Amino acid sequence: MNAQELYSKLKNVSHDSYKKWTLKDCEEIAPIVEKINELKSQNDAVILAHSYTLPEIVYGVADYVGDSYELSQKASQVKEKNIIFAGVYFMAETAKIISPNKTVIIPAGKSGCSLADSITAEELKTLKAKYPQASVVCYINSNAEVKAECDVCVTSSNVYDIISKMPKKQIIFVPDSLMAENIKVEFLKRGVEKEIISSEGSCCVHDRFLVQDVEDIKQKYPEAKIITHPESRPEVCAMCDFVGGTGLMLKYVKESAHKQFAVLTERGLVNRLEFENPDKQIVGPIAVCGHMKRNTLEDIYLALVSPLSTQIVEVDKDVAENAKKSINKMFEMVERK
Ligand code: SF4
Repeated sequence: MNAQELYSKLKNVSHDSYKKWTLKDCEEIAPIVEKINELKSQNDAVILAHSYTLPEIVYGVADYVGDSYELSQKASQVKEKNIIFAGVYFMAETAKIISPNKTVIIPAGKSGCSLADSITAEELKTLKAKYPQASVVCYINSNAEVKAECDVCVTSSNVYDIISKMPKKQIIFVPDSLMAENIKVEFLKRGVEKEIISSEGSCCVHDRFLVQDVEDIKQKYPEAKIITHPESRPEVCAMCDFVGGTGLMLKYVKESAHKQFAVLTERGLVNRLEFENPDKQIVGPIAVCGHMKRNTLEDIYLALVSPLSTQIVEVDKDVAENAKKSINKMFEMVERK
């Protein structure tokens, strides 16, 4: 992909505040983009990139872009032996658990996540001992050891349906305390009777949006539709026009007749919305996940030439087996719908 081709993709995307990419920006990165794209086919590799990674990765070198759930599924379908997973570590781990025979490489190495790192398997075991009658549910944004301790794993798009189908009334839900609060609100609306017990984690990106931000948007952009993710605070969600996971937010903006949106989520998704909806304007505050942005074109290049041991994802066999059971249980419960 040369600079002009790259520019045709990136020109509607912001890369600093709402400043758009220029042809000069694209000329600077075009040589490494070209080298990466050549190396992929030489090395039987495919690049899966989370929507929150840098736009030059998403639009320059990625073969597939999506959220953690979509990418894990894609990892099991691709024919290439080597998967370069541009995202954070728990996502690459999930891809490895689902596709144990592939080599999964994460360019940023052991990149963290405020949510996934908020609870360890030992802490979850303590919580389970305190509530022995409870079913144990984890959000997909959790580490492999935590998934291995759970009955079922969920995503933001199936969390309400799966938990409402769990046979037990008492549910331990980890690691997102804000999503847990949003589940309680949703279940009140749906008339579902469950007792939700949560741990203390939150996503540092979505947790930063406050009621004041929504009030400011409403004052400055009275026409804008305001949307956010269920990882945001319940009081913020309550003020928004729409709340949903990344896939649902993309669908909402695409299908809406409105022209202006404030999107309270990570900048990468804002970039995708700008790219996919050039006739629509995105306004309002911007939040960035530093963990996701740790993946760079340089790291991807190095991972393709000669990956470091810290970039190669390994999951303990027993942990992987048990974590896979909780992931498979999710697939099974979604299909049973
Ligand atoms: S956006 Fe939030 S949940 Fe996603 S990787 Fe960053 S900190 Fe974790």
